Order: sequence, then structure tokens, then C-alpha cells
Amino acid sequence: MNPDFDVAIIGGGPAGSTAASYLAKAGMSVAVFESELFPRPHVGESLVPATTPVLVETGAFDAVAAAGFPKKYGAAWTSAETRGVPSIGVHHDLDFGTAEIMFVERDQPGVDYDYTFHVDRSKFDLILLKHAESLGAQVFSPVRVLKADFDSDPELVTLNCRLGPRQVDFTARVVIDASGRQTMLGKQLKVKVPDPVFNQYATHTWFEGLDREAVGFDQAKADYIYIHFLPVQDTWMWQIPITDTITSIGVVTQKDRFKAAGTDREEFFWNIVASRPDLHGELQKCERIRPFKSEGDYSYSMQEICGDRHVLIGDAARFVDPIFSSGVSVALNSARLVAKDIIAAHESGGNYSKSSFASYEGKLRRAVRNWYEFISIYYRLNILFTSFVQDPRYRIDVLKMLQGDFYDEEEPSALKAMREIVTVVENDPEHLWHPYLGTLRSMTPA
Ligand SMILES: Cc1cc2nc3c(=O)[nH]c(=O)nc-3n(C[C@H](O)[C@H](O)[C@H](O)COP(=O)(O)OP(=O)(O)OC[C@H]3O[C@@H](n4cnc5c(N)ncnc54)[C@H](O)[C@@H]3O)c2cc1C
Repeated sequence: MNPDFDVAIIGGGPAGSTAASYLAKAGMSVAVFESELFPRPHVGESLVPATTPVLVETGAFDAVAAAGFPKKYGAAWTSAETRGVPSIGVHHDLDFGTAEIMFVERDQPGVDYDYTFHVDRSKFDLILLKHAESLGAQVFSPVRVLKADFDSDPELVTLNCRLGPRQVDFTARVVIDASGRQTMLGKQLKVKVPDPVFNQYATHTWFEGLDREAVGFDQAKADYIYIHFLPVQDTWMWQIPITDTITSIGVVTQKDRFKAAGTDREEFFWNIVASRPDLHGELQKCERIRPFKSEGDYSYSMQEICGDRHVLIGDAARFVDPIFSSGVSVALNSARLVAKDIIAAHESGGNYSKSSFASYEGKLRRAVRNWYEFISIYYRLNILFTSFVQDPRYRIDVLKMLQGDFYDEEEPSALKAMREIVTVVENDPEHLWHPYLGTLRSMTPA
């Protein structure tokens, strides 16, 4: 039996629409099923430069650049406690509380711009989905995929979908799960595993009128992403420009801390931000223009990210933590990598067994393993991160990771060096940096 489509994609977020663009460009018949009517709001507003080559390759870059999103030239970290951390010999006169990087400091293969963007995701995701459609992908929205049936025909997958009050079946040769943190297939196939260590919680909103120069380093850097360390363990705040006057602010902490507080998300937000009177004062002058929204239980992996006639990409495959703004870049790059394997399988006769995704699986797992360790080291000892950013021996290598440039290398050397130091600090209660450890401890990256 001929299927309705070569490829069916569950979810029209950045991962799904990017995969659809690559596959439609290659001449395959593609359907995207998206449960929400776009535009819809979404968390995850600051990009890293590793998104650029993908946007250029699919042809979506020009439309993204024309949308007027704020340009992001760099990133900065601030802290209330900037001094008083003892040097451990190699690092002298450092301010361990603050750091900043500019993307222009390191040439990145395939990236001709020294900036990326902060995006209003309702607009960004719509641009990408429309772009996929313009390349020939068929978009069905709002249509929710309820179940993927792999058993009724050994050559096909049947998607059972809800379209308003009706249920409709569509068939395809292969299905890509790009359903984000709803992890539609991961749940159906029972391969989703909560992260053994991370259990973070975020609450966020948009403010009108924040004076970004007052809370940032200087005028030229006012539109960087700012990560403000708060003097509460494992807790930080993001500051992301959305327009000239609107700023996205989110607080990330351990979920247990939120539960123990026993307050609602708004009170919790303000109590936590009050730990930095400088930021609190500026935010109090602004108008909040969106309700507070919370995100929790977002750290997980999958035992399998592919199998016969199915593959998982973007957040549907894995998510850890937003500290380095990696999510959209993983979504886009996982779409790029999987599209290569699917196009190759299509051109060589259409065998979509698990082995046809081997290249995707290997590259994604390696990249995400490095991301995971980079993130975990940050939480284990965040002064190590700020010291490495300022250390001329490691700065460029750390910048490579912050650019999201993770896909072609076994292991960045800075990561190896950071791992060695944090292990020494954790194992030696007398170490000068031992008091600066976070509550998270060493772990085996999945
Ligand atoms: C607190 C927090 C802050 C973050 N900050 C950043 C940041 O600054 N920068 C960054 O890059 N990333 C950030 N992220 C991560 C980012 O949000 C995600 O990594 C990114 O959106 C993943 O894209 P995706 O396409 O995989 O999934 P999504 O963007 O979630 O898209 C999935 C789509 O699938 C649809 N869908 C779900 N189930 C079904 C179904 N059954 N049928 C049909 N459609 C379905 C959904 O409606 C949705 O539109 C953050 C995440 C969190 C939790």
C-alpha cells in the first residue's frame, strides 16, 4: 500500500519545521502535524550561533533576519558577590562573579555573522513553519497526534490524529517525533527516563520598560543575554531582550526549593529576585505584560532515540537545562542530522530501519553528552565556569561550547580540564574552593 506521505512529523516547533524544510527541499513528501494554532507563545527565546548554519542551509535565515528580532552579539554573567573567592594558584586577580563573551572572538565554521538573535518564539516558530510549507511540506494544524501504530503494516506507520471532533488516520514510511517536552513517542514507547540529578524549576514572564543598561555592563552590551547569579544556591535569572522595550525574565532554581517555599509562582519569583536588590529595584519599576508561567520536570533522556520507522529529535529526544541557551540549537541541529540519514535512506530504496539512523544517533548522543557535562559542571562549581571564561588558555574553547559548536569533536579540551578540577574540589573538603560547590554532585553523563 502506498502511504499518504514519505515522512510524518509530530510537532511544528523549530525541530519539526526544520526537519520538514530539509526533507521537502530534497523532494520528499512531508506532513507536519501541529496540535496548536500558531502563533503561540513558547519558552526558549535566546539563540546560539550554531543555529545560523542550519537556518542558512534551509533558506530560512533571511526571513528570520528580516523579522527585526534583537541581535545577540554576546553573553554576560553577573553576581552580587563578585570578590572574595581565593585564587587556587593559576588564576590571579579574577572577578569570579562576572564574565562576558562576544561571539566575534571566535570564527565558527559556516557562520558568517558575529551575532545571532533573541526571538519572540511565537513569531520565530511561525516563520520556520511557514518556510517549511513554502518548500512543499504539508502542515496540518491544529491537529494532535494521539498514537503512532507500527503494527498494522510492517512497511508503514499509521498516525491516529485528532482533528477537531474527528479522529483521522494518516500513513507514512517513517515518523519523526518533534513533539518537544510533550515527548509523545517517548511516552508511548515507554523509553523516557527522568534525569537522576537535575530537577530544576523555572518561572518566567515579560516586562515592559526594563532599563537594560542599568542592569547590564554598558550600553554596547545592553542587548546581550544576561545570566544573573542569585545568592541562593543553584539559582539564577535570565534576562533576554524581546524588543527594544520588552525583556523576558525567568528565574531557575531547584524544584524542591519552590515546593518548600509554599508560595505561588508570582510571590516565589519576587522573593527570589529580592536576593539581588539591584535587579529587584529595576524590575519593580517595570510593567509586567504577561502572566507568570512555570516550567518543571524538564530534565530527562530517552533509552532509545530511534528505532524501526521512527526517530526522536529536539526536546522530544532529550532536554537537560536552559543555562547555556542550547535548546533551539539542539532542535535545529538534530533536525539537520536526522534529515541527512532519512534522505540517504530514501535515495537508497527506503529502508527506514533503526540502523538507517546510526549516524544521527551517534552524533546527537555525543553532542548532548558534552552539553550535559558542561551544564552539570556549571552547577557543581560555577566559579569554575567564570574562571575558565577569563582564562586565556581556555577562553576560546569555552566560547566554542557557548556558540553551540558541539557536533564535530569528540571532547572539547576545556571540558576535560574543568572535569579534572571539579573532581579534585569535590573530593577534598579542605580545598579552598570546596565551600563554593553547588548542591549537585558528580554524575555519569547519559
Ligand atoms: C525554562 C526554559 C528556558 C529555556 N530557554 C531557552 C533559551 O534561552 N534558548 C534556547 O535555545 N532554548 C531554551 N529552552 C529550550 C527550548 O524551549 C527548547 O529546546 C525548544 O523549544 C525545542 O524545540 P522543539 O521543536 O524540539 O520543541 P517545541 O518548541 O516544544 O515544539 C514542539 C511542538 O510540538 C507540538 N506538539 C506536541 N505534542 C504534539 C502532538 N501530540 N501532536 C501534534 N503536535 C504536538 C507542540 O504544540 C509544539 O508546538 C528553554 C527551556 C526551558 C524549559
